[in-house]
Order: sequence, then structure tokens, then C-alpha cells
Amino acid sequence: MSRTNILIVINLLIFNLGLFGVAYKKSHVRVEQLPPIVHTEPIIIKPEEPINYTISNPKPDYLNNESTFEQLVKWNKEAPKITEIGTYGKSSRGKDLYYMRVTNFKKENKKVVMITACIHGNEPLASSTVMSYIGTILDQYGDDQQITSLIDSRDIYFIPVVSPDSYPNSRQVDGVDPNRDFPTDRSPDKKSVPPVRALQEFFLKIKPDAVISGHTSGRLLLTPWGDRTELCPNESDYKRIIGEMSDMCGYRRMRACQIYGTPIYGGEVDWYYRHGAFSIVMEFGPHQNIPSRNDIDKEFNMTFKSVLFFVKEAPEVQVQNKSIWRMAS
Ligand SMILES: [Zn+2]
Repeated sequence: MSRTNILIVINLLIFNLGLFGVAYKKSHVRVEQLPPIVHTEPIIIKPEEPINYTISNPKPDYLNNESTFEQLVKWNKEAPKITEIGTYGKSSRGKDLYYMRVTNFKKENKKVVMITACIHGNEPLASSTVMSYIGTILDQYGDDQQITSLIDSRDIYFIPVVSPDSYPNSRQVDGVDPNRDFPTDRSPDKKSVPPVRALQEFFLKIKPDAVISGHTSGRLLLTPWGDRTELCPNESDYKRIIGEMSDMCGYRRMRACQIYGTPIYGGEVDWYYRHGAFSIVMEFGPHQNIPSRNDIDKEFNMTFKSVLFFVKEAPEVQVQNKSIWRMAS
């Protein structure tokens, strides 16, 4: 091969390598230079199924403490997205102090309401009526517009049996009247009996804006103060809200200090109020016996709408004159 031919071959080789380089670069474009992916098909996000549970036995007959807890567990299984069960301590005899929380857990900025019964254990109609409230609101959630929007905007803690050691036979807990066992401004360091103290600690943890404590009997709505005869700073709110509640259910409105004609010291309604909650006591029904089916239905039918009204209106009140005491240690 002549020298000229060799040079031609070398030139051809160099030229072809150049061409190959251009072709290689074209087929290996870097990722970020790719055009954006355009979806031509619409993305369909399925709306979540609205919550509407079937609740068995929404208005149970009278239940003892163990059966009350079992009923709550059953409802919790039937309505898992709007209920929670928990405990907040133990009684002196080692029984769990339990609550059921009812709320739409997906919603935020909800006012907190606490509804209790049977701090006096021998007032079982209060527990039975409160159990009917719980079962009914779970059953009606998704069907009844008023109840649905209430559960969407409120965080409600129900404690159907506050004093399980006494339920359903005794007013006293550990030898004292539990509704005279709260600290007062006369005895701010008072150490309450275990279930009453546990209730105070639970209250301070969940910080209710409003409280109903269910008692029996007399068909009364009792407002602060219990421990003094002067009007409380929220008297006009009590007059307006509890006055309307009274019109709805037929229960008589009264200040707690008026019920025995003399101030009551160490009562829960004052303690809750002084700690910032718009609180009342509801004295259910005509007697303190084990309630019959008819007793429960009658009390439920009289009061249910008025309690829904309370749950809506009471937490909106600005409670005045808060004085927060130290907890006894
Ligand atoms: Zn009572």
C-alpha cells in the first residue's frame, strides 16, 4: 500500500469516529433534557365513603359496670372511625376508670365536651340515659344532619360510670361523698379519693370547654355556684343557654347553692367552672332505683334534644373569673 493510500485510510477512520460520536450523543440525551410527561388520561381520586355505621342496641337496658364497658367496646368495634375507648386510672378496688370519646377524628379545632354520670354510684338512671345518648349519636351519625355536624365539630368524652366501686348501690366512695370531695378555695390542697382525683387529672388533661355531670334525681339543671350564694360571672350565659335547655326538656333550672337552701362545698360543678368549663349538673328522673326500660326511654326522650343543644352552645361561652388551683400532691 502506498503512503498516499495509508493516509486516506487513516483520514477515513478519523472521520467515521467523529460521525459515530455525534450519533452516540444523539441517542444518549441526558434525563433532565427529556420533555415533561403529559398525562392525557384524567386522574380520578375516589371520594372517601361517608361514615354511616349500623349500631346494634343503641339504647341499652340498665347495665352493670362490667356490661357498660363491654357495650362501649362493642360500639367502638361497630363505629371505629368516630370512637375511642380509654382508661384514666383505677378505683380503690382496682377497677378501670374508662371513657368513650366520640368525635370525627379527621376534623380539627374542635371544642371539647365532657359528659359524666354516676359520681354518686347509686344513681343508675343517669348512666343508662347517658348510654342511650352515646348509642343514639353513633347510630344517627351520617343520617341526622344536626348530629353529624355536632360530632364533626365537637370532641365529646363520655364517662358513664365515674364511681364503679359504688355503682349501682352507694352514694359514697371510700367513705366520703365524692361530690363534696373536690378542692375549694377554702381547701385548695384537698386530696380527693382516687376516682375523684383521677377525674380531676383527666379533666386537666383533656381541658373540656363544657361539662354535664349526670345525677339522679329531681329533674333539675344545676349551675354554679354551689359554694356561695352570689351570682356567678357567667350568670347571663347560664340564664340564656340553660334556660332554653330547661324549656326543651322540662327540667327546672336552679343554682346548686339553692338545692338544699345552703351552700355546698367541694362540689364538682364549681371545680369544673373554676377551671374554665361551662359546667352543669343534670339531675335525671324521679328515683334512684335500677331503671326500667320505660324509665330510660322516658328520660332519654325528655332530654336528648336539650343535651344536643348544650353540646352545641355551651362550649362557645367564654368562661370568666377562672382561678386555677394547684392539684393536691
Ligand atoms: Zn348525685
